[in-house]
Amino acid sequence: MFTLKQRVVTKTIKQSPKAEVFTKPSISSRRNRLRASKAIDERMEMSRTKHGREKTRKHRNRAQTTTIRAEVDQSMNARVLMLKESKTVALTDLARDLKERGVDVIGLAAGEPDFATPDVCARAGIDAIENNITKYSPNQGTMKLRVAICEKLRRENGVHYEPQEIVISNGAKQSVTQAVMTLCGPGDEVIVPAPYWVSYPEMVTLSGAEKVILKTDYESGYLITPEQLELAITDKSRMLILCSPSNPSGAVYSRDTLEKICKIVTKHPRLLVLWDEIYEHIIYEPNEHVSCAQFPNMRERTIIVNGFSKSFSMTGWRLGYSAAPLYFSKAFNMLQSQLTSGPSSIAQEAALAGYEKLGHKGGEPVERMRLKFQERRDYVLKRLREIDGVKIETPGGAFYAFPDVTKLCGGEKGGFVEGFGAIKGSDELCRYLLQEARVALVPGSAFGIDECIRISYAASDENLEKALDRISEALDKSKFKRSGDW
Ligand code: PMP
Repeated sequence: MFTLKQRVVTKTIKQSPKAEVFTKPSISSRRNRLRASKAIDERMEMSRTKHGREKTRKHRNRAQTTTIRAEVDQSMNARVLMLKESKTVALTDLARDLKERGVDVIGLAAGEPDFATPDVCARAGIDAIENNITKYSPNQGTMKLRVAICEKLRRENGVHYEPQEIVISNGAKQSVTQAVMTLCGPGDEVIVPAPYWVSYPEMVTLSGAEKVILKTDYESGYLITPEQLELAITDKSRMLILCSPSNPSGAVYSRDTLEKICKIVTKHPRLLVLWDEIYEHIIYEPNEHVSCAQFPNMRERTIIVNGFSKSFSMTGWRLGYSAAPLYFSKAFNMLQSQLTSGPSSIAQEAALAGYEKLGHKGGEPVERMRLKFQERRDYVLKRLREIDGVKIETPGGAFYAFPDVTKLCGGEKGGFVEGFGAIKGSDELCRYLLQEARVALVPGSAFGIDECIRISYAASDENLEKALDRISEALDKSKFKRSGDW
């Protein structure tokens, strides 16, 4: 597919890309802000439009291959080209990039705890390196950790799995991808409730299946109803993807709703459930986490996905897993053997130490983190509710606030700011807030709900306070006209 027609390399001169717009933070703050806003505009424009992306690509190519003369067939796999870049990753990178250039940006876009990995896990990782536990791990993950995961699932979630039914991967993202790629393909439909985690629809696209998006809203608490699901099911429906507590809304399925949903699922022999419970331990009373696989006839049609990134604050260690009946796990294992092989031996030692020494819930360090998240959630909610036009119910879990901002950027005309123009939709609202308040947030459009924005409160108290002061100021009625007010 990739034909190299002719390749004449004479000399390569590496040039730094031209996009270094403001490298000297010492200039006066007004000029610095103007430049920052120009750079933000450019970067956003680049990633937003096809033209911009094309420009960036051409620019990069020019910068890196000034003197390379080559004729190359640049065609690529159409399914890969159909994918959209993850907006959460792009915005987190943009915020980091701007900070490095001296712009005072507060990043509330990232989906990762701002707490250190618990000491016992970190220590076990160091010990693993020192003891040379640095070789390839078994493809499916170490037996010790798989046994520990089975024990966790039995005790915490009331579901029984054998170690052969667990596949440990390089992050839950890989577990989700392997499940979707293995079980779904052309001709299948995958039901994805919105708001969704940004990667679900892209993985469905990659598999060749069709996504069927089920929209939820503020009124439904961002949860699908059993009736909504029933209407969406066809004889092509192959998979329903559920995430609870949810990224991005923090919504949690109650036992009662989940039971009703599962009853409907079990009426359709082709329909499977991918149950992503990666935020299971970041949940606030009175909500309780209930696993989908524990309902009658669900174990055989459920793929549980979980991991250590969020609960154990181990995002960079890259460790997740799936638990599914052997007939599916075998295939996930086979696919993994051809994609990446086993996960990191060091990370597995660290996770095992976490289970053994802190317990499945992560003990005191994780509880401390959870309580801190709850305190921050309450603070963020209080501040958001003070802003005219922002609506938010209390999220039951995860570390995100997902307010409805229809009055700020929806309606016929959207919002308006003198000097910025009309603000229609969550992308523009986030661009405005990045430019004016220098706070990086993720537009709800990334999650399939344009009426909302996502604010991660996995940030220090000081940064949250500063960010909310700036956001409130940028949205003050004296400068920000609400939809319908202008
Ligand atoms: N599922 C959800 C809902 C997530 O939010 C994430 C991370 N943002 C993942 C899966 C993947 O987690 P990881 O690959 O870090 O284990």
